[in-house]
Amino acid sequence: MFTDFEKLRKKIDLKCKSLHAINEKYMVCKKGCDECCMNFNLLPIEFNATLDAIKLLDIKINSNSAPNACPFLVDHECQIYEHRPIICRSHGLPILTMDEEGENWELSFCPLNFTNTDEDYFEAEKCYEQDVFNSELYMINQDHSSLTGIDPHEMSDLHQLAERYSSERLKRK
Ligand code: SF4
Repeated sequence: MFTDFEKLRKKIDLKCKSLHAINEKYMVCKKGCDECCMNFNLLPIEFNATLDAIKLLDIKINSNSAPNACPFLVDHECQIYEHRPIICRSHGLPILTMDEEGENWELSFCPLNFTNTDEDYFEAEKCYEQDVFNSELYMINQDHSSLTGIDPHEMSDLHQLAERYSSERLKRK
């Protein structure tokens, strides 16, 4: 049921790997630097695929995490790294998103990275075009909703994923 989602995630991983290699010189991401880890929203396909991948694992959860923080971040380590959401895979890279009018790309990046660059540095080949991949995710989410009857717009977040994971774990005991 999650084959297309997994294919997309692999494609994104390959893209992010090549962008890391291109931008490595200007990126200072390291363990313990995790301000980009937040309570992200998930579409139904991503929520269900991630729950399916982690449901049989023993994962630590930070049950005291703030509402806007990710509960899977424990001692500065992602507890679901291999299965982390798509948005987490581009952490630290220069990101291009389409503006509201759908006419121009807008650039964003972590202020800790790229401190010795100027605007000319950010050619499109060096950036992660987020909406290109989000469009593919959107289509896969539509297919998933047609199969399952789940409202494609029903968003959940990482706290809800942690709660579902914890309740599935309790059922297993
Ligand atoms: S899932 Fe992992 S990488 Fe994503 S925000 Fe949470 S701790 Fe960070």
